[in-house]
Amino acid sequence: MPAISPSVAAILGAGVSAAVVAMALRSRARRQAREAATLREELARERSSRAESQAAENARQQALFENMLEGVLLLDGGGRVQFTNTACRRFFDLEADVRGRTLLEAFRCNELSAVAVEAARAGRVNGREIELDGGEEARLLQVNAVALAGPEGRSDGILMVLHDATRLRQLESTRRDFVANVSHELRTPLSLIKGSVETLLDGAASQPAVASRFLDIIDRHCDRLTFLIEDLLTLSRLESGQLAINFDTVPLNGHVSEVFDDFHRKAAERGVRLLNEVPEGLRARADSDRLDQVLSNLIDNAIKYGRPGGSVRVEAREGEPGEWIEMAVVDDGPGIPTEAAERVFERFYRVDTARSREQGGTGLGLSIVKHIIQAHGGEVRLETAPGKGAAFRFTLPAVPPPPTGK
Ligand code: ADP
Repeated sequence: MPAISPSVAAILGAGVSAAVVAMALRSRARRQAREAATLREELARERSSRAESQAAENARQQALFENMLEGVLLLDGGGRVQFTNTACRRFFDLEADVRGRTLLEAFRCNELSAVAVEAARAGRVNGREIELDGGEEARLLQVNAVALAGPEGRSDGILMVLHDATRLRQLESTRRDFVANVSHELRTPLSLIKGSVETLLDGAASQPAVASRFLDIIDRHCDRLTFLIEDLLTLSRLESGQLAINFDTVPLNGHVSEVFDDFHRKAAERGVRLLNEVPEGLRARADSDRLDQVLSNLIDNAIKYGRPGGSVRVEAREGEPGEWIEMAVVDDGPGIPTEAAERVFERFYRVDTARSREQGGTGLGLSIVKHIIQAHGGEVRLETAPGKGAAFRFTLPAVPPPPTGK
């Protein structure tokens, strides 16, 4: 029997039996035990829900790090790798788990180790560029690093974020080349125009035969500048997606005949025969004006660079019915050397620069052709061999067959 408290003694004193008191005490103990159990359950529930939300938060963070394009690398206070995300491992072609290794052991990259040392000393490093020698394709990484401070200013490791700047560098170099090329292309005709004007001003204007020669130079080079600017504008609109492709049903044989009409004179001057071998009735889904531009560029080139007295053929065939059409502009000229064949679609690339300029070429025609065909969802390729002519083949969407009735 537990010790009797003064209040219980008072009850006993008031004539309540000991059995009743014992019952009251047991009931109170049971109630307290129930309350304690409920409290424990609530605590357990709360703990498990906290663990669940912590796990969900961890999973979210993991997904975030794993899906980042930037590489993330965390070193602990002792300079050992604590965490790397997928992008970081991919940049360095790491397959094994490198946790617990030193930075140099894990990455074998002196520049990266140097960034870590500097971040530990200075607190942070911004935008340090590291070049990785990746065999075929060298990679440029931009690294930001920050030293993490623990309690009482102790070093708690280093966090590094690595950004792949390879594409950015390529774009920058393409832009620089482009500006250099355009400047060069503009300067040449401008200096010829300026030289001719000066000669005329110096007195040549009074000698009709000489004057007409210089006026002819001015006229030709003004045309060249106009073509260049038109081609540049077309290319820029195509590349920025500003030039909408208005798909229509184009009957190909008639279309080729119309384009040929613009070239009969030029072809006749070089004794070149123009042959339209596109089957009647063949149609494509294409933008008629843009297709005009493609054919004009290819036919113009075939006449210019093909064989004097030779022929230029345009042919077409249906590929997968209702899926695509393949067209080709074929000449029987000297063709294009193999090493140049891969590059002719690049902007400003010419096999024979002097010849192209003399013919009023801008070096942009095939690049425009490629963009237009790609904007149609097609592809263009060149088949050629030295002395065996050149065939520029491209695909276009076909007109889908009419739906069959039930
Ligand atoms: P261009 O304005 O110089 O003609 P293009 O981009 O149209 O520029 O062509 C690029 C180069 O490809 C030309 O300078 C020429 O050297 C070469 N080329 C194009 N078509 C032919 C062809 N049918 N035969 C031989 N060479 C060609």
